[in-house]
Amino acid sequence: MLGRKRPEPKIESSDEAFSPQSARAGAALRLTVSFMLVVIVAFLAVEGWRTWRDYRAAFASARDSVTNLARATAQHAEDTIRQVDVVTAALSERVEGDGLQNIDIPRIHKLLVQQSAIMPQLHGLFIYGPDGQWVVTDKEVTPEPANNADRDYFQYHRTHADRRVRIGEVIKSRSTNDLIIPISRRLNNPDGSFAGVLLGTVKVSYFVDYYGDFKIDDKGALVLAMRSGTILVRRPFVASVVGKSLLNSVIFREHLPTSNQGVAEARAVVDDTERLYGYRALTTYPLVVEAGLSRESIIAPWRRDLLKTGFVLIFLIVILVGFGLIVLSQLRYRMTMEKQIRSAHQVMRDMALTDSLTGLGNRRRLDTALADEVRRAKRDGSCLALIMLDVDYFKRFNDKYGHAAGDDCLRAIAGAIQKTIKRPGDLAVRYGGEEFTVLLPHTHSAGATKIAQEILEAIRALNIEHVDHPLGIVTASAGITISQPGSEDMTPAMLIKAADAFLYLAKNTGRNRWCSAGASQG
Ligand code: GH3
Ligand code: MG
Ligand code: MG
Repeated sequence: MLGRKRPEPKIESSDEAFSPQSARAGAALRLTVSFMLVVIVAFLAVEGWRTWRDYRAAFASARDSVTNLARATAQHAEDTIRQVDVVTAALSERVEGDGLQNIDIPRIHKLLVQQSAIMPQLHGLFIYGPDGQWVVTDKEVTPEPANNADRDYFQYHRTHADRRVRIGEVIKSRSTNDLIIPISRRLNNPDGSFAGVLLGTVKVSYFVDYYGDFKIDDKGALVLAMRSGTILVRRPFVASVVGKSLLNSVIFREHLPTSNQGVAEARAVVDDTERLYGYRALTTYPLVVEAGLSRESIIAPWRRDLLKTGFVLIFLIVILVGFGLIVLSQLRYRMTMEKQIRSAHQVMRDMALTDSLTGLGNRRRLDTALADEVRRAKRDGSCLALIMLDVDYFKRFNDKYGHAAGDDCLRAIAGAIQKTIKRPGDLAVRYGGEEFTVLLPHTHSAGATKIAQEILEAIRALNIEHVDHPLGIVTASAGITISQPGSEDMTPAMLIKAADAFLYLAKNTGRNRWCSAGASQG
């Protein structure tokens, strides 16, 4: 026992080494998920904003287009009608000056032919008498019957003294079967009575050709209508649409009454297509033009772009999520591994500090605890007791009952020792072989002696037969030492050495007893 070499193995606490790593892995996990979410949200926000901006830009540009188209078609309609207005005004002045009965028909015919040839929009120029009979025209032949008294415009002028030109609804020409817009003017006799009608007819095809030159989408529409709502010309041109009324359309119902020009989104009454319309009412003539681009054509390029962007975005998000999932699974794997290593390390640490035979702590455990308690006792100025126990004549026991019975005996003794110590800070270890050590912090000499006595009594109380022992049962001897308050230079080795010395004394003075600095069992 004495002079035994006692190495001091160092057991590192693994918790301190692993916990920060685990916390770091957890933080990295959260950081990765947050990063992925932030990037995805940022992608979606930027692309969402860009898409919304493009959508608005597409409509802003379409508004400009329909406004310009409406302006151009309005100007064209006004110019076209004004030229006929001017020509018929000059002609009426001349015819009325000469008197309808006195006009030189061949000369006027020549003049009408000449005027008609100059103006491409003109289908014809006609002068009718008070009874509706054709007087002179720019045509070479006169159809039979040559009477237009039944025409709307004729009846209007016969009953209205109004001298301005009147624009009529589209009719079919009696001379050529073409669709024409009649622009007529009343002729008066010098006394103001009705003398006849001067008519200039404009070809619908002139407008159709002009409207056809604009580059607009297939579902786009250009409309020339009377202020009363009746359609005169429309692109795309379908003859059956001419003459239909737009009075019930949103633009005529809601917009034109308050504003002569503007832009409005509306569903067309003619073909049920949603369009963005630019509309304009002419100021000099009771005409309205509408220029519409289909909603479909406005958003089609935007939608194509949206699809492309959407695919790219989804692709990027899939890559990002895939990458993130790989990182996450790596992190999770690492965290699981670390957990396993931690628990394996804990098991090893427990094993390293536990005596496998008795389940008590082992010498390593004592070395660590003793060093801590010596430091603490010095710091607190408290007593620290150490009891060293050794089973008496144990070699003989083994020899007599065998090694297995010896092991059982050691286990029973360990149980008895463990049961005797009560405080949480008390520690019992198997020091080696059949030797045990009990460490009792904050315990003075009397307390330690009491515990030692109780342990020796508990071992005896086990009543394990030992025929080669003078007492016939298994007993043990104990050496007790106390580190008193103020023992600044006390070391763990000194404490063990002292306890060992008292144990030696107990052995030499008869065994089955305890010895300490102040007293001994006698
Ligand atoms: P003493 O009263 O002077 O202590 O005599 P002793 O025979 O107990 O002491 P000694 O040191 O001569 O012998 C100790 C014996 O303890 C030797 C060995 O047979 C036995 N022993 C040590 N470790 C174990 C163990 O783990 N199991 C068993 N069964 N016996 C052990
Ligand atoms: Mg021994
Ligand atoms: Mg012994």
